Amino acid sequence: MLFRRQPRSTVTSNPAGAGIYAELARWIPPERLVLDHSELKVYECDGLPLHKELPGAVALCASRQEVIAVVRWCNEKNVPFVPRGAGTGLSGGATPTARAVVLDLNRMNRVLHVDLQNRYAVVEPGVINIKLTHEVHADGFHYAPDPSSQKACTIGGNVAENAGGPHCLKYGMTTDHILGLEVVLPDGETARLSGPLAENSGYDLAGLFVGTEGTFGIVTEITVRLVPNPESIRTFLAIFPRMNLACRTVAEITRQGILPAALEILDQLTIRAVEASVFKAGYPQDAAAVLLIEIDGLDAGMDEEEQKIRQIAKENEAIEFRTARDETERLKLWKGRKGAFGAMGRVNTDLYVLDGVVPRTRLENVLNEVYEIAKRHGVTLANVFHAGDGNLHPNISYDGRDPDERSRVLLAGREILEACVRAGGSISGEHGIGLEKMDFMPLCFTEEDLQLQKDLRRAVDPRNLSNPAKIFPDSKSCVEVGKRHATLVPL
Ligand SMILES: Cc1cc2nc3c(=O)[nH]c(=O)nc-3n(C[C@H](O)[C@H](O)[C@H](O)COP(=O)(O)OP(=O)(O)OC[C@H]3O[C@@H](n4cnc5c(N)ncnc54)[C@H](O)[C@@H]3O)c2cc1C
Repeated sequence: MLFRRQPRSTVTSNPAGAGIYAELARWIPPERLVLDHSELKVYECDGLPLHKELPGAVALCASRQEVIAVVRWCNEKNVPFVPRGAGTGLSGGATPTARAVVLDLNRMNRVLHVDLQNRYAVVEPGVINIKLTHEVHADGFHYAPDPSSQKACTIGGNVAENAGGPHCLKYGMTTDHILGLEVVLPDGETARLSGPLAENSGYDLAGLFVGTEGTFGIVTEITVRLVPNPESIRTFLAIFPRMNLACRTVAEITRQGILPAALEILDQLTIRAVEASVFKAGYPQDAAAVLLIEIDGLDAGMDEEEQKIRQIAKENEAIEFRTARDETERLKLWKGRKGAFGAMGRVNTDLYVLDGVVPRTRLENVLNEVYEIAKRHGVTLANVFHAGDGNLHPNISYDGRDPDERSRVLLAGREILEACVRAGGSISGEHGIGLEKMDFMPLCFTEEDLQLQKDLRRAVDPRNLSNPAKIFPDSKSCVEVGKRHATLVPL
């Protein structure tokens, strides 16, 4: 086993129960143990409805002790288990494997400790991302990683996916904000990985754990960095007649050494969906693209930075350059961006949110390819993305009840990710691999690279019980998705 352990806590042995999953009632009270078929359906997928599977049971865990007990029981019975936060994941990470026990962690939602002098907080995994910022904002701090889903997603889920967000361009991804973790390992033992000190000695095991999508066990406590609120913030909207001009503006801003807090692009279809929705932000509906720019920091120097950005936008033929005049206007501009995925619900019944990365300088070319792929497959596609990071989110709106359209969506999705890799990019910027992209892993990794990752996973989870059938292309054959009582085979 890879990680340092703490002594076993006591778990009493199983009683002779009725159904196999009903045995969990020994540790989880009946009102928090979901066994009913219709209730289990709530947990059959996450934010990616392309894949669905019913779990065997769902344990709504309220404490680390309950997590340990459920994981130990799963080990004893050779039953796979899947951690779940808010279920907003977009790559099928929290979608259950057949007969798995889902550990829902939303009830572990306390901020345990805040230390402003040392700039950290200790939270349980079910704390909703934005709630931590609400807790410390009046004291002059915030939690910087801000996924657009931050009003719903949990910090535990963010750790598992190494979540990003608009402001991660300047402040770094989730991994840059995790100081320490307490985890329940796949065999039910606990470990503490690093801690609140800014510098830790030894291997960075917390860093290793971040982004493992529930395959290394379950995070039960998280020590996160708190970031001081900036003295000054300015937000702009640059409006363009063509998408390529917005992309060139992004590349030029970074080339000139300016590091904005955020650089986000929305295309015309997205703008129109937003403007027709409750997230209406005042974006002009005839624009081909809008670029949302935010700068923050010390007040001194803000005018100069704004001037430089305004000039770059002008040189790239921006039709208009707006500055948010007050906090209300600023929040309105952000409401449109953060609500963009939700607004796409107006376009069709289902939404497939892709997540590829390309070098900033290739944004323009790859986007052309993306639109061409959508046209060729006859699918409706819109783009809203973290342009500063080169992190594309092509969104395909479709009717999931139409099998032909569904297969065209999947084909287009694959070709888009291939285009990202060809451009020197990668298949995931922040949503993870999950079920969605495991077959695409060989696009980015050689056989040897993949084997090294699988060896690591086996070292941590030799019995392949923690969120199996995810990430690696051949893990489907280990626990066949869609078949009940499948045999578990180590990777
Ligand atoms: C509208 C919308 C906007 C989004 N915008 C962004 C964005 O800007 N940036 C971004 O990065 N993502 C974004 N996402 C995707 C999603 O919100 C993130 O991936 C988020 O981190 C998932 O958190 P969750 O609590 O919903 O986790 P879940 O979906 O429940 O789980 C995600 C993964 O984490 C694992 N997991 C959950 N909790 C734990 C735990 N305690 N220990 C171990 N493993 C665990 C699960 O097994 C699964 O593999 C968006 C999603 C939506 C629906």
